[in-house]
Order: sequence, then structure tokens, then C-alpha cells
Amino acid sequence: MDDIRKLIVGNWKMHGLKSALDEVDRLAELCSRGEPKADILICPPATLLSEMAGPCRDAGFFVGGQTCHHRLKGAYTGEISAEMLKDAGATHVILGHSERRLYNGETNEQVKAKAEAALSVGLIPIICIGETRTERDSGQAVAVVSQFLAGSIPDEIDDFIISYEPLWAIGTGLVPTPGEIAEIHMAIRQRVGGDIPILYGGSVKPDNAGRILSIANVNGALVGGASLKADDFYGIIKSA
Ligand code: PGA
Repeated sequence: MDDIRKLIVGNWKMHGLKSALDEVDRLAELCSRGEPKADILICPPATLLSEMAGPCRDAGFFVGGQTCHHRLKGAYTGEISAEMLKDAGATHVILGHSERRLYNGETNEQVKAKAEAALSVGLIPIICIGETRTERDSGQAVAVVSQFLAGSIPDEIDDFIISYEPLWAIGTGLVPTPGEIAEIHMAIRQRVGGDIPILYGGSVKPDNAGRILSIANVNGALVGGASLKADDFYGIIKSA
């Protein structure tokens, strides 16, 4: 479904930009020069969310979290709940990013429970899935992605977003071929149906965004490094 409005997500990860509000202002200024054809979502570190929510809303951007706990409240030191993200102004939350799965041991079951918590307070989960280089090289990419899908998506929901992020493409400058991206996105489309946005993430930059965003069933991008500077991020947004 290529009539789904594109969504470009900036995942700032653990970069607590001192210039966060300046980047939002600059992005708003760039976007005001021509109506962007994509929705824009910025996912800053949680400590910046409430400060950024107002200026982002004024500029027409969404803000989101980078993870949440699967419970809505309780004695969970250091955690942040979906409800707290929502209260801070978030509309979306990234879940199961490969860095969370790798460094925090998040499993499909946990991602699914977090997605249920997010949905219960009205946040849209962006569920990340992707294969390793070894899995791709051994012809397992479609099977691995299908397993992630089967395990991570709550039953009976229709308001979520999938982000296909091959682990070997994140922060490496490496990108799958258009054919490889198309194959995986088609497999995801067949599993999730027509209306669910499917993003691609992994080394999206201003110079490759146009090519990636024109692939069938690519409904947007999840951008890490190139989302930290408004000018780079805008270079991606305007390719949509
Ligand atoms: P990158 O990160 O754009 O820096 O490769 C993507 C991601 O982690 O989602």
C-alpha cells in the first residue's frame, strides 16, 4: 500500500542534545518552506520529551518515546511507563529496537506486553524487527522477520507500525539492496495487511532516502544518526 502517508521518525537514542529546541526550530523553519509530504516524529531521550512536546506540536511534529515498561505503574526503579510518556506529550513509542533487544535482553514476549501497555493508554507502538548479517547470509532473513512478527505483535490490534531494521545496517553505512528491502517489506505486508505503515531503518541518509522511500511497501523511515541535525533530517524528509 503506497497510498499510506509516509512517516519519518528521528530516533535520537541517548543523545541528550543541548541544542534540542534549536534543532526543532530549525526543522520547523525548513519544513515551513514547503509543505512536507510526510508526517514527522521525533523520539528524544525521555528527559527531553515534555520540554520538546509543545514546540513540536506547534510545528506539526509528533514526539514519541524510545521504549516503555510493560506495566503502567509500580516499583520499577529507573523505568518509564507508557502512561508517563503519554502524559509528557508522546503519541508514539518505539519498541523492541535491536539495541534494546541486544543490551537489555528484550524478548518478543516483552515487546508484545509493552505494545499492549502502549495501546492501553493510546500510544501507537512502532515495533522494530530485523535480521543479523549471519542470518541474511544464510538465507534466513524472511524467516527471522516472520518469527519476530509472530512473537511481537499483540493479538487483535490494528493501530501499530512496523519498522524493518536489519541489524547489520544500523549505524554502519551499509544498506540492503532495493530488492532485499522490497522482499522483506512484501513479506511483512502479507502478514500485517494493507493499512499498517511499514518503515525501513538502518543507515538512512539524505543521499539514499529517495531511493529507499520509493520502494514498494516502504511507508517511511526510522532514522538514527542522520536525525540529530535538523538539516540532515530535513534532507530525508523532503525525499518522501
Ligand atoms: P542509523 O540508526 O540511522 O544511525 O543507522 C537507525 C536505527 O537505529 O533505527
